Amino acid sequence: MGHKARKRFGQNFLQDQGVIQRIIRSISPRPEDALVEIGPGLGALTEELLSAAGHLDAIELDRDLVPILRTKFFRYGDHFRIHEADAMKFDYTSLCHGSQRLRIVGNLPYNISTQLIFHLLSHHRHVADMHFMLQKEVVERLAAAPGEKHYGRLGIMAQYYCRVDNLFLVPPEAFDPVPKVDSAIVRLTPYETLPYEAQDVERLQQVVRIAFNQRRKTLRNNLKELISAEDLEALNINPGERPERLTLQEFIRISDFLTHLEQPAEKE
Ligand code: SAM
Repeated sequence: MGHKARKRFGQNFLQDQGVIQRIIRSISPRPEDALVEIGPGLGALTEELLSAAGHLDAIELDRDLVPILRTKFFRYGDHFRIHEADAMKFDYTSLCHGSQRLRIVGNLPYNISTQLIFHLLSHHRHVADMHFMLQKEVVERLAAAPGEKHYGRLGIMAQYYCRVDNLFLVPPEAFDPVPKVDSAIVRLTPYETLPYEAQDVERLQQVVRIAFNQRRKTLRNNLKELISAEDLEALNINPGERPERLTLQEFIRISDFLTHLEQPAEKE
């Protein structure tokens, strides 16, 4: 392959043509799409995305891969733009033209995947959808419903902004080098209008983070710095409940109550 996979960049290159085709079918790229690929690697997905859409922006951190990709996709001229950059720091709005929203794709480096998803969620208004290959457990966390084992901060915040579809599993043998973990493909589709909106999303993030500080403890315990058991009851939320049983709407109720408390009382 002429390039030695680098562990520090989370490099596991997709080899299995069946899996590649299945991912492409799920994405169903069209010429009118503004496609962005994070971490193209040696171009396994890029090749298929480009042949379907005819153009693509790619963000790759490993500078040794950039010339390989440029050579491989030379025939696309300006329609293939490669940005040698860190996807965590990249300005995605620079790729938006007019009101067009981005379709983001990536077989992500697993060591940064949750951080990167939080970062991209903050750009949700500029994104039409995102298809990611992730560690199976991360997809389970993204898609988990209240009461499920993997339900927590990542899933709640992803589901605040997006519809989440857990699409299919990918076995370790689909990659070279073979990773130690199972993988899965997820689709995140940001809502144009949020179904439930918190008055202050930073407050919501804080409530969720603190509520899950200790999963096995009750809300009364975890949230005691923020809200009293009486106030939780007044919001129709059982203070003896564990955080993993609370719905997004209930977290928003707590968050809005706290936001409201902060606002200075209106003068008569
Ligand atoms: N898309 C290729 C494939 O499916 O074969 C490669 C996937 S590999 C798991 C992850 C890719 O992300 C690598 O090419 C790696 O160099 C790149 N990468 C790692 N960290 C990155 C970052 N912070 N920003 C952009 N790309 C990154």
